Amino acid sequence: MNSESFTDQKPRVFTSEDAAPKQWGNRLLACSLCGHTFKVGDYWRWVYAPGNYLNLETCEKCDGADVLDRYKAACDLIRETGSAVATVATLHRQIADIQGQLADTQRALELIRENYLDGNPIPWAMEQARKERESNAKAEEK
Ligand SMILES: [Zn+2]
Repeated sequence: MNSESFTDQKPRVFTSEDAAPKQWGNRLLACSLCGHTFKVGDYWRWVYAPGNYLNLETCEKCDGADVLDRYKAACDLIRETGSAVATVATLHRQIADIQGQLADTQRALELIRENYLDGNPIPWAMEQARKERESNAKAEEK
């Protein structure tokens, strides 16, 4: 029943040879949409995915005329979600930096109030505040 190669994209029956992970780069073959791991006797089909997508395998339940569209939409969503998560992480880091700078500025103002200094005390006070924050952060790590 199975023709020469799965790359013809026609429905196939999963065989005991197909079940050997070494056939597929040491992985068990599974449906790319629902994750069902194919068992001997299962319907399955390989589908070529053009562009920036990995080719897919589909089970009988997930297969259909729009399988490629559904698969691409799922891949796109995963990519978008992944980059949104990375953006949020970057924002968190930026917020932490800004909070640190704000804390330094507040502390610098305190230091200026506490110690009247000749000349321009702001660079000194900022440096002082930054050093204090860094040594506090180190103390917290311990
Ligand atoms: Zn499936």
